[in-house]
Amino acid sequence: MSQVSRDEYDREGDLRNGYDYELQVWVLGYKVQECGHLSSDVPDCCTAARFAGQDIRILRSQLVHIALEGMS
Ligand SMILES: [Zn+2]
Repeated sequence: MSQVSRDEYDREGDLRNGYDYELQVWVLGYKVQECGHLSSDVPDCCTAARFAGQDIRILRSQLVHIALEGMS
């Protein structure tokens, strides 16, 4: 993971603007951006398509719970 980026995090360490490498989505003002794939008729073509418009902070906290439940 040596990719150079200009990701912007807030004081809490939440991604405000930039790319979330874990979820593989672009974030602008905490909002997940649409993927921009051409196959927009496929509703769930990727993570970004599924989560577009959602708040990355809420999303991440939900995913952490899901991930923790999935383990064990
Ligand atoms: Zn997509």
